[in-house]
Amino acid sequence: MEYLTTKGNAWEAFYDFSTDLPGAHIDQATLTKAQVKKIKLEEYRQKRDFSKTTEPAGITLSAAASKEKSSPKFTIQLHDASRLHFDLRLEHEGVLQSWAVPKGLPTTVDEKRLAIRTEDHPLQYLTFEGTIPEKQYGAGEMWIFDTGTYQATKHTEKSIHFQLKGSQINGDFHIFQTKDDQWLIERISPNKVELPASFDPMLADLSDGKIPQSSDYFFEIKWDGIRINLVKNHDAITITSRGGRDISNQFPEVIAAAKEIKAEQVSLDGELVVLDDQGKPVFAKIISRLHKKKVSGTSKSNQCTAYFFDLLYLDGLIAKDMPVERRRAWVKAVLPVGEILRFSEAFEDGNTLWEAVKAHGLEGVICKRKASKYVANRSKVG
Ligand code: MN
Repeated sequence: MEYLTTKGNAWEAFYDFSTDLPGAHIDQATLTKAQVKKIKLEEYRQKRDFSKTTEPAGITLSAAASKEKSSPKFTIQLHDASRLHFDLRLEHEGVLQSWAVPKGLPTTVDEKRLAIRTEDHPLQYLTFEGTIPEKQYGAGEMWIFDTGTYQATKHTEKSIHFQLKGSQINGDFHIFQTKDDQWLIERISPNKVELPASFDPMLADLSDGKIPQSSDYFFEIKWDGIRINLVKNHDAITITSRGGRDISNQFPEVIAAAKEIKAEQVSLDGELVVLDDQGKPVFAKIISRLHKKKVSGTSKSNQCTAYFFDLLYLDGLIAKDMPVERRRAWVKAVLPVGEILRFSEAFEDGNTLWEAVKAHGLEGVICKRKASKYVANRSKVG
């Protein structure tokens, strides 16, 4: 009777076990390499409906496999499924051996992180990005986080020693099975891509009020408050002002809320405001919060809201050369749901937003070119 009291679908894992059947009664040694690969991908195919998902069916895998005789490839994807996680995939014998790594690859030597072995994926998955539709297996957004080649010095069924050569994620790792689908991944050599130590915010230009009419741009509300850099470094959270001053102690409610951010290490760009009951920032209130001597017991009407609109670093990756749209998608993905930390929404229609901003007495509109990089101190966006 136990399944009656268990949350979720008792038959959820049913198909997980159906995949052994094609090969179960066959001596694997008599199979051709192509047939073995086909069996390996059976579980991948069983889990997906290729008339609905945009993921590759992976039928042409042997053709893809024979093209590359150089170093095997790897990919790390950021996957905003029911829970935000990373997926590590290593090309091996014609398929991608895959693990879901909830917190991403370790960034410090000797640190071990959980990795859950998942079904082998077809090689075409190396370049897969997109949205897996609702109700489909792994529903949610998937982005390539980093990709490149790797070299394994040891590669067995239960343990792999490998060196990653990605655009930013580099170094020696060891991944090994502990029990069933549970593995651990450990970093062996130091990480060179670190959380940025200083904050040089990208600034906006003043414009004559002409709204660009091109679909190359999007628009955000300009929040009238204090520009901040919020950094979460594991359990340590700091808020720094534009001038580089640590103002963390002034905003305990923001620090508390930031503990729920879904990233181990992240550097966020945003604006601290105090909103009135119409949702309009009151600049005098945020300034008085900044200088308040006795921070505890702040009244509800003086509670801070932090709007975030950009991201400079996320779990081993410096993000400033990526298109702003991607950086913003990651901001949205890592922010917890709540009142205090909010995503500063983007709008496609600049004219309508400008009218709304004027009608509500807000400060202004920020216009950004969709493909633009994060450039410190620079103002012109394109
Ligand atoms: Mn995944």
